[in-house]
Amino acid sequence: MSVQEATTGFSTTYGYEPAGVWSAPGRANLIGEHTDYNNGYVFPFGIDRRTYVALSPRSDNLIRLSSTISDQVVEFELGKKQPADLDWALYPLGVAWVMRDSANGGFDAYFTSDVPVGAGLSSSAAIECAVATALNDIWEAGKSAQELALIGQRAENDVVGAPTGMMDQTASMLAKKDAAVLLDCQSMETELVPLGLQERGLVVAVMDTRVAHRHSDGGYRSRREACEAGAAAMGVDSLRGLTEEDLPAAQEALDELTFRRCKHVITENRRVLDAVDALKRGDMATLGQLLLQSHASMRDDFEISVVELDTAVELAMEVGAVGARMTGGGFGGAAIAIIDQSKMELLSEHCKAIFAKKGFAEPNVFAVAASDGARRDA
Ligand code: ADP
Ligand code: MG
Repeated sequence: MSVQEATTGFSTTYGYEPAGVWSAPGRANLIGEHTDYNNGYVFPFGIDRRTYVALSPRSDNLIRLSSTISDQVVEFELGKKQPADLDWALYPLGVAWVMRDSANGGFDAYFTSDVPVGAGLSSSAAIECAVATALNDIWEAGKSAQELALIGQRAENDVVGAPTGMMDQTASMLAKKDAAVLLDCQSMETELVPLGLQERGLVVAVMDTRVAHRHSDGGYRSRREACEAGAAAMGVDSLRGLTEEDLPAAQEALDELTFRRCKHVITENRRVLDAVDALKRGDMATLGQLLLQSHASMRDDFEISVVELDTAVELAMEVGAVGARMTGGGFGGAAIAIIDQSKMELLSEHCKAIFAKKGFAEPNVFAVAASDGARRDA
């Protein structure tokens, strides 16, 4: 379907057939928030919503980009001064720029996606990983999936200017159906852990609050700075170097705010490992509790939640979810819940009704399934 859409969009825009179609999924993070840039653990999965790119190499140095989210075709010439306002095109151009040593010309690309933008499901990693996978093929760059994830992250950090960690792109590249990816951001080791939701009649519900966030704004950056300051004051390279046993000493050494920021990260790392254990034992009740504790820590200590996210978590629990938490960088976006498939309808109605009553924007509630990572589709 979306392969067809990408192909048709490409030929309508550029007047010829694409060389191929590639895609990469958005991601939901089950648990482990703001731990990635602290060299900690994260536990995301790829979702069944993807960004597709139909793409063809060019023999000249021109790059042309178009997307269903925009009317303009962005033109860019390698080696020339860039146009001022590149906006969304910075994401794919950033990837091309990071991969420039492998380039042997420009390309035409057309993007189509059903990953909601700015919902905390990483439409940014999806577009980066889709285009990185495509360029890796057409430029015969020979990069591994993990290398392509780092390329996507560099594009987002250095070109887009969002100081995000490596979680999103790693999830989008390495995801597997019915599994989540445990990523140790210190060693870069990954482990696929089966989720086993379907056999229990469970799904992951996404409750997109439609409150927009921006990573380039100050909130994300200031949290990152607090973590770095805390680690430095405690004499470690990163907060990964501390465990819950160090919390009393940290409370002595750090100012109250820095301490709470660090406490979130230190306890969250432990919660990720506990969540992986719980899943391996099939202990969904414990997993659910860990999600709730993670949410409380982000709400009270890291202070990255918003009232819409807190409400979504509460409503999911009222409907009988196993557990729920906000997911993604915070300040808006989506919450997730693990819930009986049969309760999805009820959850959606409940969220819509209470959000309306509270005067919030209408939330978008839908189930996601853990899906495969970036690939060539056609
Ligand atoms: P999130 O990753 O949570 O969805 P971000 O702000 O990190 O939010 O990234 C969203 C931005 O990524 C969009 O505003 C747009 O610039 C770019 N983007 C994402 N998907 C697409 C797409 N299909 N086509 C063009 N640009 C996209
Ligand atoms: Mg993003």
